[in-house]
Amino acid sequence: MKAYALLAALAISASGEKTPLAQLPKIDAAAVLAHTKVLASDDYEGRAPGTRGEERTVAYLVEQFKKMGLPPGNTDGTYIQKVPLVGITPDPSTVLTFKKGDEERRLKFKDDVVAWTKHVDETAAVNDSDVVFVGYGVVAPEFQWDDYKGLDARGKTLVMLVNDPPVPDPANPAALDPKTFGGRAMTYYGRWTYKYEIGASKGAAAVLIIHETGPAGYPFGVVQGKTGEQFDLITPDRNKGRAAIEGWLSLDQGKSLLAMGGQDFDALKKQAATRAFKPVPLGVKASMTIHNTVRTIDSRNVVAKLPGRDMHKDEYVVYTAHWDHFGIGDPIAGDRIYNGAKDNATGTAGLLEVAHAFTRLPTPPKRSILFLAVTAEEQGLLGSQYYSMAPIYPLAKTLANINMDGLNVYGRTRDIILIGLGNSELDDYVKAAAAEQGRVVRGDAEPEKGFYYRSDHFNFAKQGVPALDPDEGIEFIGKPAGYGQRVRDDYTQNRYHKPSDEVLPDWDLAGAAEDLQLLFAVGYRVAEADRYPEWRPGTEFKAKRDAMLKR
Ligand SMILES: [Zn+2]
Repeated sequence: MKAYALLAALAISASGEKTPLAQLPKIDAAAVLAHTKVLASDDYEGRAPGTRGEERTVAYLVEQFKKMGLPPGNTDGTYIQKVPLVGITPDPSTVLTFKKGDEERRLKFKDDVVAWTKHVDETAAVNDSDVVFVGYGVVAPEFQWDDYKGLDARGKTLVMLVNDPPVPDPANPAALDPKTFGGRAMTYYGRWTYKYEIGASKGAAAVLIIHETGPAGYPFGVVQGKTGEQFDLITPDRNKGRAAIEGWLSLDQGKSLLAMGGQDFDALKKQAATRAFKPVPLGVKASMTIHNTVRTIDSRNVVAKLPGRDMHKDEYVVYTAHWDHFGIGDPIAGDRIYNGAKDNATGTAGLLEVAHAFTRLPTPPKRSILFLAVTAEEQGLLGSQYYSMAPIYPLAKTLANINMDGLNVYGRTRDIILIGLGNSELDDYVKAAAAEQGRVVRGDAEPEKGFYYRSDHFNFAKQGVPALDPDEGIEFIGKPAGYGQRVRDDYTQNRYHKPSDEVLPDWDLAGAAEDLQLLFAVGYRVAEADRYPEWRPGTEFKAKRDAMLKR
């Protein structure tokens, strides 16, 4: 036994990158389940930011990192990165007015328009702001695309379409061009968050997206759910860098607005799918004043660090998992505690056990590993956004992010899914490790839904750091065909974001342990590798990484 351990140690330290997965310390499914049960217990009150649930969760994570001998991850000697949050609730009595000459249209909040401000302020307003239609509102140099040609957008109200410009394939006009905006897959240029960000960077006063159910992927009713309190980070400029007003117009109102400007929705939409599109001023003025209720919350990311062993120790691989969930809320079937067991007590537990496995290596990897449990994912990926904007260690020296959000609780699988498969060379690490487990890697079955943009790894990707978004497999060992889809659908319909997301007696974390073993091997090998993993050409994050690394 001792001789074997020594041999294994030699094998690992000689060339960690080549150490067989089977020789790495083992992830223990029982330990993952034990942490999950604690974090998902009613005592933790659903782990909402700014509540007693946060206090307990943060205390538990710090205690566990200490117990495994991992030093604090923050340079101030603590395990904490403070994350200042603001909650802003708009007064629903607000009205949006469009005016052209004597003609005036008044849009009702929620029915016709859903709007809010990210400004940390009691009021936000636009007054007689010129309305300009900017197509899909996209600037994508890699596709020679610019929807703002010649436009000074400062102070304007920008109106745009949702999703990527649907560029037809020159070889088959019935299909989308696979070389432009990801073909059928949604790129970040298609996400509503992008639209507000680019509009703000152009100096717009307001950014309004015309809702369409097909391209958005969800009905207007989902947008209408965004009329209550919304959380955001508080930036040093109190979010004044954002447009004063952000929001959505219903499709009917969008069409009426364009008609008011003498334009036809369908004709403009067609033009907007071409590179030749130019902004279209509508000759309409927009006015809206939103009054808000504002409250601030001091939340926390929790971070531990395994220092690397040599001259590369100021370079990092970052594992993330969000610790937060929805806390105590409206009761469903008599239960008010949103335990968030699968989402994301499991991922947080996985983060702890991957960290634990790293501490059991005979020698640490040459680069340092960061274990970052982030807050407020459920409020819009805010904890990870904060880290990505105020990183404790430079992102240019961060090789990769590996995220865990919702582990497999249904047993072993023959496969593992990678959302965003094809984005970066991290895929190759995953494929190699999966092959050693006798498993295969599959892509996302629904790339048009943009899942890659919906958890914490995305904030790393957005800043240029190659980021991995693994998801549970679909092909379960010893289970009938269709089982994977059935448990997935059951979870989505009956438990996802509901008080019933609890640890169940029939949970089996053997598959989760295998996934974690794989992610451990991937992070370890990246930390040992000769070179940084790269984005593949055509990926929307590559330009940022190349600039950061001055390639
Ligand atoms: Zn989650």
